[in-house]
Amino acid sequence: MAAITLNNGFKMPLVGLGVWRMEGKEIKHLLINAIKIGYRHLDCAADYQNETEVGEALSEIFQTALVKREDLFITTKLWNSDHGHVIEACKNSLEKLRLDYLDLYLVHFPIATRHTGVGATGSAMGEDGVLDIDTTVTLETTWHAMEELVSKGLVRSIGISNYDIFLTRDCLAYSKVKPAVNQIETHPYFQRDSLVKFCQKHGICVTAHTPLGGAVANTEWFGSVSCLDDPVLKGLAEKYKKTVAQVVLRWGIQRDTVVIPKSSKLERLEENFQVFDFELTKEDMDLVKSIDRKYRTNQPAKFWGIDLYA
Ligand code: NDP
Repeated sequence: MAAITLNNGFKMPLVGLGVWRMEGKEIKHLLINAIKIGYRHLDCAADYQNETEVGEALSEIFQTALVKREDLFITTKLWNSDHGHVIEACKNSLEKLRLDYLDLYLVHFPIATRHTGVGATGSAMGEDGVLDIDTTVTLETTWHAMEELVSKGLVRSIGISNYDIFLTRDCLAYSKVKPAVNQIETHPYFQRDSLVKFCQKHGICVTAHTPLGGAVANTEWFGSVSCLDDPVLKGLAEKYKKTVAQVVLRWGIQRDTVVIPKSSKLERLEENFQVFDFELTKEDMDLVKSIDRKYRTNQPAKFWGIDLYA
């Protein structure tokens, strides 16, 4: 399957399956079918609260002839409240996922929050309704513990998520093991060309989370507008005889980002993977560029009482 080579030589498949908001009971069915379709890259996180179900599904899958562990690229993420407990948190995720190594472990957000137990998710809030940030843990300390995971052989690659240019630059300065990936929200309505170019110039692969703009899910959760209804993208879909989602994912791949759409519908899993049999012209890539709204659809401020991106 088409893949990008990371700055440490490991390969990461260009299309992955995001598992946020997948319900425990549907996971086995979805993962088995995704693998049959050809997906070889899974994007998980401790915070998605379904690592146990993903692990159960994976261990069943590995008992069949479908795929072997080494055929898959599996990512999970360090939750905010575990920045001071990186090694234990990673081991906790490995145990739930029933794996002995991860392909990629990401710092989920550039913020340490009050620790509430290894592997705990959610966000501790103060009485003032504002996220309880742990001001004693620096991102540099967190990163050095992430580096230890590589030397211990628990993780092949380490990376960051939701880091802006300044935080990414700092990480490059203090790291001995450079971040292989920065996973950020990006899609046609939130293109972030400067951050994407900055990362790529410094050998950091950009993974596009929310690559479909979150579609209906983010409209329901955050009241956001979906790029899948955009008239320009609809026009391109007609022109290429593809769906809007396929055009959006193809655009992501052609700007050298890795895309990790989530779907709980089998026909959409298939649709989102059929993006290698057409190519957008340079003019059409430029056309998509013109519809950027600098518009973030995923708004954790809803849960945290403060906007960390402000
Ligand atoms: P996506 O952009 O992947 O959109 C998911 C939504 O799109 C769901 O409502 C899904 O519905 C719908 N959908 C999927 N395929 C299609 C299609 N072909 N046509 C129309 N609608 C479609 O948003 P996510 O927020 O799920 O992001 C993807 C992944 O990125 C996550 O699962 C997670 O792994 C990662 N992520 C990481 C974050 C981070 O902070 N690092 C933050 C957010 C996401 P349905 O399921 O009904 O098909």
